[in-house]
Amino acid sequence: MIGVAVLGATGTIGVNTLDVIRRHTGEYQIIALTAHSQYERLAKQCEEFNPDYAVLVSEEAADKLEKLLKQKGINTRVLHGADALEQVARLKEVDVVMAAIVGAAGLQSTLAAAQAGKRILLANKESLVMSGKLFMDQVRDNDATLLPIDSEHNAIFQCMSDDYAQGLDKIGVNKILLTGSGGPFRELPMAEFSKVTPEQAIAHPNWSMGKKISVDSATMMNKGLELIEACWLFATDLSKIKVVLHPQSIVHSMVEYVDGSILAQLGQPDMRTPIAHGLAWPRRIESGVSMLDLISMPDLQFAEPDMQRYPCLGLAREAMKTGGTATTILNAANEIAVQAFLDKKLNFTGIAKTVEFVLEQITARTADTIETVVSEDGHARIVAVDYIEKITMQAGAVH
Ligand code: NAD
Ligand code: MG
Repeated sequence: MIGVAVLGATGTIGVNTLDVIRRHTGEYQIIALTAHSQYERLAKQCEEFNPDYAVLVSEEAADKLEKLLKQKGINTRVLHGADALEQVARLKEVDVVMAAIVGAAGLQSTLAAAQAGKRILLANKESLVMSGKLFMDQVRDNDATLLPIDSEHNAIFQCMSDDYAQGLDKIGVNKILLTGSGGPFRELPMAEFSKVTPEQAIAHPNWSMGKKISVDSATMMNKGLELIEACWLFATDLSKIKVVLHPQSIVHSMVEYVDGSILAQLGQPDMRTPIAHGLAWPRRIESGVSMLDLISMPDLQFAEPDMQRYPCLGLAREAMKTGGTATTILNAANEIAVQAFLDKKLNFTGIAKTVEFVLEQITARTADTIETVVSEDGHARIVAVDYIEKITMQAGAVH
């Protein structure tokens, strides 16, 4: 049996992971499930999967979970607090850690999984964006296995020769073609961007996802974070990666080789495919995803992204060029701005403005320790909050 810890079990990726595992209960055993505070959903998951541990960050929610589990006669041990996330990621019974917490909150537990030499299924791209080199060093030094779950990176991984760690030039890769749908506002007149509501922004045309990544997809910051993620995962730089708009989300990304071949991975826009791939790699298992019907498929289109429409994509590119903690700052400012937008304290165009402002205010440093990364993340959050307060006050009424 393969022992699995699902960090962020109640989220979109967590729920999809459990759906794949449900189909293979003889092979995978859930050791730990974690969530922030959704104790009722976690209780249901404990009832079905009977893990050894359940973790909630909120102590109050953990107390409620404990009571619920007791009533149902389930003997899962309940822990609480952020440290407990790291604790379960390191358990010796755990072989695979699904890192599916959203945002910077996932950094320490994902790093703990790397330090403990686990197979990490990486959905939490923010942890890699925040601490790229440090994270990759921990993976290498502790013989951890890092498998990308982000659909694009999983597609690239599937299209890449096994020995890509030698360098992309050595294996004849000309370019990585990173596809993105362009989100729900690909054709919206730009003059209307400032009026866009959170409800419109989280209604992604092709994928069903958590709120934060849905807003990131609408601004294309998601593609910016993915550019950075791809640089670290495939040991390459921005010059080797081209972002391609592909509104149908059927081709999940491609690798172009020097001989003129382009390898692509196609499939339904359903995260259970990359999750099943990560769980079973190098084998293949059934994921519950229906087969693509090529005959009745819509035409596949590809286009250049319009950088005016998606300023966040340009900001991410610049931050990666600057290097060091610039990507930590980018990520932190974006998380604050997206939350402010979801709380209706900032308009949609304010997200890119906030990130740009914070990047201008803070001079990036070398990201040589995790303490530096964490303190830079905190600093950038304070600068972002101040900026949002200031522009909100200047604008008067907020919509
Ligand atoms: P989600 O919002 O649906 O779920 C987030 C999970 O993290 C929940 O279980 C929540 O309880 C937990 N969580 C939130 N804040 C926390 C905190 N402070 N401490 C501990 N746990 C916390 O998000 P999602 O869409 O499942 O995305 C999860 C991650 O996967 C993100 O990094 C996202 O970028 C990445 N990802 C998601 C998709 C997708 O299709 N949803 C695709 C690619 C990558
Ligand atoms: Mg993606």
